[in-house]
Amino acid sequence: MIINPTTAASPPAERWVHQICEAARRVDCGECRALPGDDCVCTTAPASVPVTGNAPVRPVRGYHVARLCRGFRRGLISGPDLVAVLQATVVFTTATVIYDPAGADAWGGAR
Ligand SMILES: [Zn+2]
Repeated sequence: MIINPTTAASPPAERWVHQICEAARRVDCGECRALPGDDCVCTTAPASVPVTGNAPVRPVRGYHVARLCRGFRRGLISGPDLVAVLQATVVFTTATVIYDPAGADAWGGAR
């Protein structure tokens, strides 16, 4: 039996980005001054692909790259995790927003 170590060892990518966003959420944001526990951005995004005029939308929460960097400096986000999420954006500044793929529903709608 052959086990693919990449598949076996890696959590789903969405869960991984969600965990990084959760860590970033614990610090304040140097870009937009969002306080710990608040979102940098709360907006809506298409819930399905392809996106058509009638595509349903869902609430999503986003966090500035500056906030992820602050989370890294405070030891909440590892260097490799920060680099990986920034590489996925291809081009970014401190004002780039990283969206939590879990959406706003992950917090039970309490906010
Ligand atoms: Zn922010």
